Amino acid sequence: MENRIIQTYGEDIWKMTTEVLEKAKLGKMIPKGSYIGIKPNLAVAKPSSSGATSSPIIVSALIEYLKKEGHDNIIILESSWIGDSTKRAYKVCGYEDISKKYNVPLFDVKDDTYTMKNYNGMDIEVSDKLLSVDFLINIPVLKGHCQTLVTGALKNMKGCISDREKRRFHARGLHTPIAYLNKVIKQDFILVDGICGDLDFEEGGNPVIMNRIFCGSDPVLIDSYMAENIGYKPYDVEYIKIAEEIGVGSADIDNAEVIILSKDETIAKPSASRKVQRLAQYVEAKQSCSACYANLIRALSRLDDEGLLYKFKNKPILIGQGFKGIEKEGIGIGQCTKGISKNIGGCPPSTTSILEFLKRV
Ligand code: SF4
Repeated sequence: MENRIIQTYGEDIWKMTTEVLEKAKLGKMIPKGSYIGIKPNLAVAKPSSSGATSSPIIVSALIEYLKKEGHDNIIILESSWIGDSTKRAYKVCGYEDISKKYNVPLFDVKDDTYTMKNYNGMDIEVSDKLLSVDFLINIPVLKGHCQTLVTGALKNMKGCISDREKRRFHARGLHTPIAYLNKVIKQDFILVDGICGDLDFEEGGNPVIMNRIFCGSDPVLIDSYMAENIGYKPYDVEYIKIAEEIGVGSADIDNAEVIILSKDETIAKPSASRKVQRLAQYVEAKQSCSACYANLIRALSRLDDEGLLYKFKNKPILIGQGFKGIEKEGIGIGQCTKGISKNIGGCPPSTTSILEFLKRV
């Protein structure tokens, strides 16, 4: 499934996870008897509702699926960022309970030994435990990042190196080492937690409810898709560009096959975060689906970054099923607002298409 992404929307996280895994036939992709590593994003010790960490429900549903498919030899491995404790993150994020329930060990990469790998003249100190797994499943969170714009599948591998190496990554400007790291270690499958990732920051605090889970096996393609989901072009993210150039994968999202298993039928409930509430002031929503609303909030956040939000002061942007059949002057998002004089179609329209449309109007 190299150039394929399978996605679903909704609120039933367990069901959504199982659906995308079954459609991807993950169980058949894994050779029998493999030692399977699950790499969540537990950069900080905060629950997944903060927008920072991978949902324990996704990981539980994944483990049950793997066991049902006859894959029993599983380990969860992670290293929180410098300054936080992985063990505390495992506890706070609900992973100790997962470990007990399914008898799956939790491994702290900070306690590991490391092997020096090299790509293109750059030494990178990689976890020995990570190097011992046969099949690696990566679970990044769909969230923004203040330095790299997006923190996706490629960057989540930073939890598989020593703390000393993480410091060197920052000193080397992050992008090139992140891309090179993905030449020396291979992730085999990526399951993206797009339930409520943060607007701009790795450490959470401004979650945007996006109600989506998607999966694939090319980390460059997945990161390109993640970038588009939060309002960037793939090549806006330097490490995606470098990773493609050195052959980690393809950023050609326009020619990828994106299979959507089900549409979002939930009605948006904007998060209580002050930043999301501030962006929401520019929106008049009437029964907007969560996915559509989230894409608009992400697009407004990008406009805010570019100092263009002022253009929409006193001109509310209309969105939602409540505008079906209404004809009037204004700015409308999605096919439900096709009667509004300036409108972008789609159901839901993507974040990047909303952003381009709003820049034009
Ligand atoms: S266009 Fe309408 S129906 Fe489609 S996702 Fe948006 S609000 Fe929902």
